[in-house]
Amino acid sequence: MNNSTNSKVVIAHRGASGYLPEHTMESKAMAYAMHPDYIEQDLVLSKDDIPIVIHDIYLDDVTNVATIFPERKREDGRYYVIDFTFDELQLLQVTERFQPSTGEQFYPNRFPKNKGNFRLHSLQQEIELIQGLNYSTGKSIGIYPEIKNPEFHHKNGKDIARITLDILSFYGYKTKEDNCILQCFDAKELERIRKELQSELFLVQLIEFPEETKQLQHFASYADGIGPWYKQILDKKENNKWLFTNLVEKAHELNLVVHPYTFRHDQLDEFSTFEEMMSVFFFEANIDGAFTDFPDKVVDFLRK
Ligand code: CA
Repeated sequence: MNNSTNSKVVIAHRGASGYLPEHTMESKAMAYAMHPDYIEQDLVLSKDDIPIVIHDIYLDDVTNVATIFPERKREDGRYYVIDFTFDELQLLQVTERFQPSTGEQFYPNRFPKNKGNFRLHSLQQEIELIQGLNYSTGKSIGIYPEIKNPEFHHKNGKDIARITLDILSFYGYKTKEDNCILQCFDAKELERIRKELQSELFLVQLIEFPEETKQLQHFASYADGIGPWYKQILDKKENNKWLFTNLVEKAHELNLVVHPYTFRHDQLDEFSTFEEMMSVFFFEANIDGAFTDFPDKVVDFLRK
């Protein structure tokens, strides 16, 4: 792993997704040029067991699947990645994220919906892009894959973790030294990845629900870090100064790094500027890294 224990790392969340449609090759190449430490890949299997880089098990909020394959929706009205072969998925155009029911773009000030010509791609293709750029630029930017919804995959007879680990291993990502961090929200599956599948990769346990923040001791028995929602680190503001929960401190006591998600320049919530947000989290709350849709802005902040 790339020095994440002794310095702050920047993780390009779905690529440079603040500027280009998430998880497209274009957004990954742009992210690469911004010099983050890691570029993220969310993974869902295709019908023919190829890990596709996409955030959800559904296709209909980032592609034109409803136009190309209108008859292929399930009873719930949704289109599932797992119902399409890799070749079929190649026929879809990817666009900026939108609400399938209304067609409304999720982040109105980002790349315009239905413009350009973007496609889905596999984990293998993205690793070859990043490793190729590492070769041609002499840099060493890491990958940060996430196993999406393993329970859904198991129910459909697919072992996404095993398939992903085999591909990572083929491309040289086998141990904590190999510039790869593997993440998952499903604690049972991440524990299985360490214990049953015997992965020696750097593992990050993502945290969604508040009660999970109380299970750090258990997470530390198989993981090397946690990825909480950033609001789980904030407590309240008193006399114009933020107070924090004990999450980061507790994690550090257990030797877990803390990489919260997701910092967005166009969604500041309780902060007035992005600089303020960065300063509070990196220097007051003492996080070790950040998932961001705007890797250039976090890299700039940490350089100063
Ligand atoms: Ca993710």
